[in-house]
Amino acid sequence: MPADVPRPVPGPVEAPFWEWCARHELRLPRCADCATFRFPPRPRCHVCRSAAYTWEPVAGTGTVASYTVISPPVLPAFADRVPYNAVVVELDEGPFLVSNLLDVANEDLATGMRVEVTFVDVADGFALHQFRPVVTTEAAT
Ligand SMILES: [Zn+2]
Repeated sequence: MPADVPRPVPGPVEAPFWEWCARHELRLPRCADCATFRFPPRPRCHVCRSAAYTWEPVAGTGTVASYTVISPPVLPAFADRVPYNAVVVELDEGPFLVSNLLDVANEDLATGMRVEVTFVDVADGFALHQFRPVVTTEAAT
């Protein structure tokens, strides 16, 4: 991925998400009072209105809830990638993340696919969360 892709410009509430991604760790804000994950990050819990939260690690596994294939026209930084996918992943903990699914041909995309997070370093201090299919191995019994 080229280093000149547009970067997020996070505010103080969202900045830790990208800082954890740079460390290749998926963490989401979780309410300190009722334990509800709040993603996208927001100052108050949508369930109990608490302002208290911590950044908790999540497993990074989930299911493709929706997807699309991006075709031109796109921003110049993405011109060499088209057609590429964009997916919505429902994490096992419940929140939804928009991302890309790696290692899958566009014609093989499907909802319900089991996926796991991986991180792609784009530039110094900036990494994107991406997903790839979960590789399952059958237990030999
Ligand atoms: Zn809450």
